[in-house]
Amino acid sequence: SDSEDHVYKVILLGEHGVGKSSLARIFGGIEDSHEAEEAGNTYDRSIIVDGEEACLLVFDIWEQDDNHWLHNQCMKMGDAYIIVYSVTDKASFEKASELRIQLRRERQTEDIPIILVGNKSDLVRSREVSIEEGRACAVVFDCKFIETSAALHHNVKDLFEGIVRQIRLRKDSK
Ligand code: GDP
Ligand code: MG
Repeated sequence: SDSEDHVYKVILLGEHGVGKSSLARIFGGIEDSHEAEEAGNTYDRSIIVDGEEACLLVFDIWEQDDNHWLHNQCMKMGDAYIIVYSVTDKASFEKASELRIQLRRERQTEDIPIILVGNKSDLVRSREVSIEEGRACAVVFDCKFIETSAALHHNVKDLFEGIVRQIRLRKDSK
């Protein structure tokens, strides 16, 4: 059927250093972080969510270069978005809001699934953004929210399963 054949394009957005590539590599099942370090990459994988298979194509290409065209493409091509900030970096949190606004402007008429991700939750002592601030931001921007730690692999599975559930919810309501 249509839904089984469909591959969902998921785009990672967020400032440099927040952990986009780390999250993508965990999703892709790649443990050795050295190869894909700078380049950015695309990860293709099927996961079972609520007993049903879903194919995700995860794009970690936002920072590939400062290409304006590529940034525009990213904003247009996604079936769902993961906007990442680091809980240890307030500026990256503010950038996440900007990205959300930009995305809303680009895709005005569409109800695209977005998950706001506060990564590096393991770095307790250098935290600059509380979980409450993260949650409140997600309410304002009408998206889902989760805190993750790529370092500890905490909540990373939940993040990608959450994306699939959000995509399905919208499909089912059409
Ligand atoms: P990107 O620039 O957004 O792709 O971020 P990277 O995935 O390259 O991560 C930037 C740096 O933060 C690397 O040194 C990672 O090892 C580190 N990092 C990523 N996620 C976490 C995390 O959850 N906890 C900690 N402590 N470090 C992390
Ligand atoms: Mg990266």
